[in-house]
Amino acid sequence: MTIKMNLNRGINATHQPQTDKVSWKRLVCINQASLKSIFITWLALQSRIVTKDRLIQWNINCDPLCFFCQKFDESVAHLFFSYSYSREIWQKILGLLKIQKIVQSFDLEQQWATRYCRKSSRKCRLYFKFFVETVHNIWFQRNNLIFNGSCQPADLVFKDIDYRVVVRCTESDRKFLYL
Ligand SMILES: [Zn+2]
Repeated sequence: MTIKMNLNRGINATHQPQTDKVSWKRLVCINQASLKSIFITWLALQSRIVTKDRLIQWNINCDPLCFFCQKFDESVAHLFFSYSYSREIWQKILGLLKIQKIVQSFDLEQQWATRYCRKSSRKCRLYFKFFVETVHNIWFQRNNLIFNGSCQPADLVFKDIDYRVVVRCTESDRKFLYL
C-alpha cells in the first residue's frame, strides 16, 4: 500500500496527461512482478532513474556515452529501447508472448503500451510482468557492467527474465506461454 501511494504521488507530480497517467499507473501498480522491479520501472518511466543524461542535467561532469555501446548518449530511451542489446531482449519477449510487432523507440513503445494497457487479457497481464522484469534486468546488467566489468549476453538475460516471470505465474499462465 505504501508503495502504491508513493507511486501515485510521483506520477501526479509529473503532470502527465490523464491517459498516460492511468495507463502507466496500471502498468506498474497492478502488477504481480517483484516490488524491486516495479520500483525500478517506475523510476525509468518517469525518467527519474540516474542515467548519464540526468547527471549532465544536474551539471555533474561526466562523459555522456552509453556504457554498453560507447556510441550514443545514455538516456532511458537509448538504454532500455534503442540499444541493440535491449532490443534483442524485447524482441525475444514479444516472440514468447506471440505479440507480432517490432521493437520501436521509447516514445512509440510508450504509446503502444498505453493502448495495450487498456486490455485485461492474460497476454496483457503477462506483458506487464515481462515489461517490469525486463527494465529491471537491463538496469541490473548496466550496473554490473559499470561495477564488475561484465554483463550477461542477451539470450541469458531473456532466460532470467522468463524465469522471474514464470515463478510468479499461475499454472494456466505457464501453459499459455509454453504450450
Ligand atoms: Zn548504447
